[in-house]
Amino acid sequence: LRFVTLVHAGQDEPGVMIDGAAVPLGSAGFTDLISVIRGGTDAIDRVDRWLLKGPRGARLDPASTRLRAPIPRPPKIICIGLNYRDHAIESNLPIPETPTVFSKYSTSVIGHKDPIVLPRNSTQPDYEAEFAVVIGKGGRYIREEDWRAHVFGYTILNDVSARDFQMATSQWMIGKTFDTFAPIGPVIVTADEIEDPHNVNISLTLNGETMQSSNTRNLIFGVPKLIAYLSSVFTLEPGDIISTGTPAGVGFARKPPRFLAPGDEVTVHVQGIGELINPVVAEP
Ligand code: ZN
Repeated sequence: LRFVTLVHAGQDEPGVMIDGAAVPLGSAGFTDLISVIRGGTDAIDRVDRWLLKGPRGARLDPASTRLRAPIPRPPKIICIGLNYRDHAIESNLPIPETPTVFSKYSTSVIGHKDPIVLPRNSTQPDYEAEFAVVIGKGGRYIREEDWRAHVFGYTILNDVSARDFQMATSQWMIGKTFDTFAPIGPVIVTADEIEDPHNVNISLTLNGETMQSSNTRNLIFGVPKLIAYLSSVFTLEPGDIISTGTPAGVGFARKPPRFLAPGDEVTVHVQGIGELINPVVAEP
């Protein structure tokens, strides 16, 4: 299934994409997508049965429906740095032996087609295409071999980064969590739709020009390792997002550098999920 959060009758409502239409799930008894994720396979079965009966209520045209981020306020957004060999090399940093972890606050989250607002106090705003894992069943000390039981699905995240703030100290987070710096979506595909998350094409275009192009087979730390490592420190919860890192081709490493500018449009494509598109605007 392909889950969204959409604005319907002026309110956020979970939905599912079926045959090119967005079908709100409010009348199936779900008030938000987190409640579906928390409900696990039982909730997905309930949605499946409800769809089989022929959904009562609206079928919305996605072109004229506003999509929010699928989880507008994720419990945690956990980001992995330098997780593609070629990106570590272009950043002039050693290939990590331990995952580099930072986070974004939920106030940075925006949805598909929402504008990335360039902060007036940064001169180096940049993009990062990322494949993201959505946690289903939570837990602590999850074993690597049990990873599949804890993944609800997958989505796309653009890890927008203000390089001047990020590189000013050894802690990157301050450059990563400006408002609007976490575009997510447009959909969460359930785990069964992506047979192998370590063989998925990922790319980013800026105004139609390809800037990043890779495959998740190039991840240094794969999904099982990340889930085991992170959950050895803190409890993973339903709806937590683990963004697995970005491949080579980011703006600051280009010669000459190419930072985001007002009027740009950034598109992240991930095979099997779709396209996350965001316009770029100046802060008013
Ligand atoms: Zn990143």
